[in-house]
Amino acid sequence: TAGISAVSEKTLSTILEKNRAFYTQGKVADYIPELGKMDAKAIAFSVVEKNGKVLNVGDVQKKFTMQSISKIIALMIAVNEKGEANVFEKMGYFGTDKPFNHFSNLETTGKPLNPMMNAGAILTTSLISGDGEKPFQKILDMVRYITKNQTIDYSKSVYESEKSTGHRNRGMFYLMKNNGLITGNEDQLDNYFRQCSIEVTAEDLAKIGYFFANECVRFDGDSQYKNTEVAQLIESQMLTAGMYEFSGEYTRTVGLPSKSGVGGGITVSVPGKMGIGVFSPALDQHGNSAAGYHMILDFVKQYHLSLF
Ligand code: GLU
Repeated sequence: TAGISAVSEKTLSTILEKNRAFYTQGKVADYIPELGKMDAKAIAFSVVEKNGKVLNVGDVQKKFTMQSISKIIALMIAVNEKGEANVFEKMGYFGTDKPFNHFSNLETTGKPLNPMMNAGAILTTSLISGDGEKPFQKILDMVRYITKNQTIDYSKSVYESEKSTGHRNRGMFYLMKNNGLITGNEDQLDNYFRQCSIEVTAEDLAKIGYFFANECVRFDGDSQYKNTEVAQLIESQMLTAGMYEFSGEYTRTVGLPSKSGVGGGITVSVPGKMGIGVFSPALDQHGNSAAGYHMILDFVKQYHLSLF
């Protein structure tokens, strides 16, 4: 757009430095004990531009777990396999004012609100075909494909930590089993814990954001998964429910489909344009990266990227 300077690592670096101190206003998640070991000061900011060019600033090598961001990948795979109607027969398209681990509406309508909160995400992963670890392997392979990064793997220590403390998620799993939505055994819940433990960098997240912003076409132009409908579905879920109970206000302030995770990452899709990935592990009261949110906000304002 006329009057707006090109995105450069210099502009990203200015935004990063301006917002670095926001980590002091947040707190690293420790309800999963392994996550509590993260360095609160780590910070990274990545952008993949329309032409696929990658810009990185900050702690670009730093790996962290995807957590909830893995839910958009699982949703893509489940919908590709089962079709959107069959997946959403079992859960809603609702936005929410509830935290990520809320049980609604499992005890009233019997169905999860959406595939972005834990209940719906656990159900979504259970819908991916294959025995044992196979569904998780598909999610991991898709993350490796989208990022073109075969070195990506999951953290066994974070996985073990989630598995041994995730009683609330286990409760949701069994309630959905009781409601007839889940038919398999606890291997399916383990796949959810594993997908949350996949380790990525901010650059990987920017590439994921780019992929859904561009009809499921990879940053290097590979279009083997190109699918406008699926990309629209994922982006609409990110917009309405991707930032936990802050999603409505975030849509007002940032105005872009985004998904955060309690590992401190946020992936953002600028439809038809770019992908953004940020990382800073100290979370605000909603569970979103405090510094990450502020970097996104400044960047979006500077380049007029809000959908509205
Ligand atoms: N593994 C986390 C949990 O299920 C994911 C939550 C999140 O990132 O919002 O508690």
